[in-house]
Amino acid sequence: MTSASRNFDVLIVGAGPAGMAAACCASENGLRVAIVDNNPQPGGQIWRGASQSSAVPEAAPWYKKLAASRAQVLSGTEAYDHPAPGKLLASSPGGVCEISYAKLILCTGARERFLPFPGWTLPNVIGAGGLQALVKSGFSIAGKKIVVAGSGPLLLAVAAYLREHGGDVRLIAEQSSWPRLIRFGLALAFQKEKLAQSFALKCQLAGIPYKAGCWPVAAEGNGRVESVTLRSGNKTWKEACDYLACGFFLVPNVELPLLLGCELRAGFVRVDDFQQTTIPEVYCAGEPTGIGGLDLSLVEGQIAGHAAAGNREAARKLFRERDRSRKFAAALGRAFSLRDELHSLPADATFICRCEDVTLARLRNHSCWRAAKLQTRCGMGSCQGRICGPAVEFLLGWKPESVRPPIYPVSVSSLAKNISIESQSSLQEELR
Ligand SMILES: Cc1cc2nc3c(=O)[nH]c(=O)nc-3n(C[C@H](O)[C@H](O)[C@H](O)COP(=O)(O)OP(=O)(O)OC[C@H]3O[C@@H](n4cnc5c(N)ncnc54)[C@H](O)[C@@H]3O)c2cc1C
Repeated sequence: MTSASRNFDVLIVGAGPAGMAAACCASENGLRVAIVDNNPQPGGQIWRGASQSSAVPEAAPWYKKLAASRAQVLSGTEAYDHPAPGKLLASSPGGVCEISYAKLILCTGARERFLPFPGWTLPNVIGAGGLQALVKSGFSIAGKKIVVAGSGPLLLAVAAYLREHGGDVRLIAEQSSWPRLIRFGLALAFQKEKLAQSFALKCQLAGIPYKAGCWPVAAEGNGRVESVTLRSGNKTWKEACDYLACGFFLVPNVELPLLLGCELRAGFVRVDDFQQTTIPEVYCAGEPTGIGGLDLSLVEGQIAGHAAAGNREAARKLFRERDRSRKFAAALGRAFSLRDELHSLPADATFICRCEDVTLARLRNHSCWRAAKLQTRCGMGSCQGRICGPAVEFLLGWKPESVRPPIYPVSVSSLAKNISIESQSSLQEELR
């Protein structure tokens, strides 16, 4: 995409399941629809790379619908600023672009939560979903010893995927306790499809030890991880590994909604029945409104797409399905909430902000994010607090105080082109 201005009736940010569903439904209603996503192809996290294979049967109908729709898909394009109402700035390798819209649907998904512990910055200690994404892009883990640790059902999906691709998965360590997991299992018992999915996953994972109430306390190795120390109750022990794939459930990507001024509730974007946020004509669907898995993202995306296109009747028909999926989301949140013991994971010398090398001891000298940022640069590196932010919130209780553009790093050359767009439009204003 080159520096240019574009105009749409409905603009969607994020081409995961929620964004794809929103685009299909909005364009069914005959509007000019575009969807921007920073990945090379639509699919989001769960369907990464699925457009090129038939290996993901539940994805196929959505790819077909999207291809048949008139929605314009702008892949490799990242929305990074909201310069004025009805406008977003987006960057891509070709330059920056101002995109205008009448309605906006935010489907920005979620990311893994990382909790720092001694050794977590060693090479080959990696996000569980991150390692899965690498393998989906062709990275080989054949024969590698892998420990999968942290929290949430993603650990199971990742372990199954890694095993299928030749990884030697030694152990899955889940921090949540058996009583919580059993309650979660009982809640699933009333949802036939989820039960069937869990059973299929159990078969794929046969023979891999699954330990609940177990979490990593340190990673060790010379130049890269060679072992992980795990704790379960009073017992600690070491497991040898080539990779430690580790993530503690998910956190929503709410930076763009916050930049637009959308209100949050309990950390998630607040929406009404039609998925409209507290900002008129701005909708939100999928993981930013609550971590609830594929089905919830799809149904929320459809509701948002219909509602943004003004077809409230079609949206209303999906409310019951969404309510069912929201119950699952609530059960997920209860089952995988983090245990108190994890507050003591990092030592004083552990880096919390790995971009700027800021230790826990340095952070403890301050009382809030703003002071810590000013004095230590915590959260000001290339990830812009996406990794350390949720960790700091869990460990020290500090919530981020502001979101500033650009919400993603943008190259200076792209920004220079952005300036030229701005000067072009102010020149046009002067000429009028
Ligand atoms: C790393 C990871 C791996 C996962 N793997 C699995 C799995 O194997 N199995 C499973 O059942 N569930 C998995 N999940 C959970 C799964 O993502 C959800 O259940 C659900 O499918 C999310 O759909 P979504 O459309 O809400 O978000 P996502 O699928 O996350 O899609 C959001 C999209 O928006 C893009 N985006 C965000 N901000 C911007 C921006 N400013 N500009 C442009 N694009 C932007 C993102 O890159 C992404 O492509 C995974 C989650 C994560 C975080």
